[in-house]
Amino acid sequence: MSQVVLSAQKAKDELSRIPELFGSMVFNDHVMKERLPKDTYRALRKTIELGKSLDKSIANVVANAMKDWAVEKGATHFTHWFQPMTGITAEKHDSFISPEGDSSVIMEFSGKELVKGEPDASSFPSGGLRATFEARGYTAWDPSSYAFIKDDTLCIPTVFCSYSGEALDKKTPLLRSMEVINKQALRILRLFGHTEVSRVNTTVGPEQEYFLIDQDTFQQREDLVLCNRTLFGSKSPKGQELEDHYFGVIKPRVAAFMKDLDEELWKLGVLAKTEHNEVAPAQHELAPIFSSTNVATDHNQLMMEIMQKVASRHGMACLLHEKPFDGVNGSGKHNNWSISTNTGVNLLEPGDSPRENAQFLLFLTAVIKAVDEYQDLLRVSVASAGNDHRLGANEAPPAIVSMFLGDELTEILESIENGSAYSQKDKEDMRVGVHILPRFPKDTTDRNRTSPFAFTGNKFEFRMLGSTLSISGPNIVLNTIVAEELSQFADILEQADDFNAALHELIKKTFSEHKRIVFNGNNYSDEWVEEAKRRGLLNLKTTVDALPSFISDKNVALFTKHKIFTTAELHSRYEILMESYSKKINIEALTMLDMAKRKILPAVASYIHSLTQSALDKKALCDSIPLDYEMDQIKALSEDVKLAYEQVGKLQRDLSAAQELSDVTEQGVCFKDTVLVDMEQLRATVDKMEEATSEEYWPYPNYTQLLYSVHY
Ligand code: ADP
Ligand code: MG
Repeated sequence: MSQVVLSAQKAKDELSRIPELFGSMVFNDHVMKERLPKDTYRALRKTIELGKSLDKSIANVVANAMKDWAVEKGATHFTHWFQPMTGITAEKHDSFISPEGDSSVIMEFSGKELVKGEPDASSFPSGGLRATFEARGYTAWDPSSYAFIKDDTLCIPTVFCSYSGEALDKKTPLLRSMEVINKQALRILRLFGHTEVSRVNTTVGPEQEYFLIDQDTFQQREDLVLCNRTLFGSKSPKGQELEDHYFGVIKPRVAAFMKDLDEELWKLGVLAKTEHNEVAPAQHELAPIFSSTNVATDHNQLMMEIMQKVASRHGMACLLHEKPFDGVNGSGKHNNWSISTNTGVNLLEPGDSPRENAQFLLFLTAVIKAVDEYQDLLRVSVASAGNDHRLGANEAPPAIVSMFLGDELTEILESIENGSAYSQKDKEDMRVGVHILPRFPKDTTDRNRTSPFAFTGNKFEFRMLGSTLSISGPNIVLNTIVAEELSQFADILEQADDFNAALHELIKKTFSEHKRIVFNGNNYSDEWVEEAKRRGLLNLKTTVDALPSFISDKNVALFTKHKIFTTAELHSRYEILMESYSKKINIEALTMLDMAKRKILPAVASYIHSLTQSALDKKALCDSIPLDYEMDQIKALSEDVKLAYEQVGKLQRDLSAAQELSDVTEQGVCFKDTVLVDMEQLRATVDKMEEATSEEYWPYPNYTQLLYSVHY
């Protein structure tokens, strides 16, 4: 009895700790209000809300308050925290220490240090944007994302640019795209009479998938350590076919990890909300509550970093690769995206009046048109060597971009298009701005899990992202393409004499012209591939196929029109993306060669030797003992060793040839068409040998040991 009371009390104490814990390491609005003089606070809020630049005297006051707060929390250093094109975050720590007199120091942090930093950034990828004589870039504070303390360091979220102003990071264009959609959405809202709205933001809730395996087992796999995915490995007898892992009971060790992870994230103000097991063995998911896109982007980067740290504290490795294991699901990231006003209205949710519904339908058709016209850009935004193993395989959305709207919403749009009644009860034609739309409950809209871009009641879920990807790229594209359509719509509607008639016509025409992108059926089926082809939809199967779209005339025109990227920035990014594709495969190929040559082939040779020895011993003992097992094995394995040896040679030759190429595009094509193919062939032979070789001789933990390495 007392035991029960005690543990209930403990749980209660823990729960009461959470509100205090949440955001405790964040210099958020609450802390600002408490610690800044009133006028400084007001000036800073203005900067944050309107994106104005910060006055120097104010910056000094803010910096000082930030430093005092951070030092009280045990921080000794500060860093400008930024997101270069490597796809992960970067930081360079400086201490607050400043000498005073001969022998003492004080803790100091100036407004200048807060607002601007100059990391020696010559080693970050710039795709040729910064000539080597101008290798320095600078970082500038993004006050719309709060500073926070991580590992005793005050981290200041910043953007990263070259001295001539080109963006060298993933954050600058994202902020630009948020400005653009704000501007265009406001034009539309004004037409509907919404003068009370002064800011429109896009919101994102990125659901993050990952694998957890035992750290010791992980360390024994060179491929996992170097590439985060297994390059060899024959399937475990048990995969995900029983569907017993999805939402299954969480093992105590994993539960302890999740609890710890939640707390670490809460301290940083990250709204971690749902933790559950995913489909594949050892696979899990974390979903946060959505926030403004730039904050969600920062938080997702933090989430990935903290996941790995906390896992290692619990003796596990957290794998964020899109496809760590063949034969079971890979990991994705679902980008739940919506648009809302500073008055709290979600613009992708049907409203309560015909006018609100007309507005909803207009935003909806803008998204439909955007996704249809810029399928290629959406595809590019999720392209990576790792994600190529997922898209199109039987678990992830295919490489073809299409949209799921659900039957109800599709029927409504069809009745608008055809000028017909929407339901049996409804005798009148469907008129925009006259009819009340039903709310679309999640359970009718969320059934189709195969769609790459699904409407889920009040937001779109873009499901093609791989688990490692920064969500910045896809959201830059989403914000920009929807802003472009909204600007076209605003151009038309602002000129209209009869607003309602023009609106009806616009929605009707847009749906009619772009409905080919809507597909509510099974995206995994072969029939869809055929059907999509008939509809003229793109099927850009690999990164190398997709990337050139990034710099097509149409897309350069889009990005430069809205000042998201300059032509030079686009070309540099294209180069970085293509180069990074080749580099990834180069590392994988080298790792494979190393594993095969130094461990796997010698291991199989030893095993063959032991079989041979056993056969010889038997024969010496007595001539009539059957030797079938040894002889068959020796023969089969020797054939496989010969084949693998040839494949190693071919991979080596093709790899050298690919490395020689200097044109990034040619090189990417060569890695895809020769090196990757060689790698697959070598893997097939090695996996076959693994199945026939004594476990005692095999140099690496197998799939069963990896996928079921967390036992309790
Ligand atoms: P669930 O899938 O758990 O039933 P939801 O569909 O509400 O819950 O949420 C899935 C994800 O979508 C969560 O990360 C959530 O925060 C996010 N989400 C919900 N509403 C929005 C929105 N308006 N904008 C962006 N993301 C949202
Ligand atoms: Mg989801």
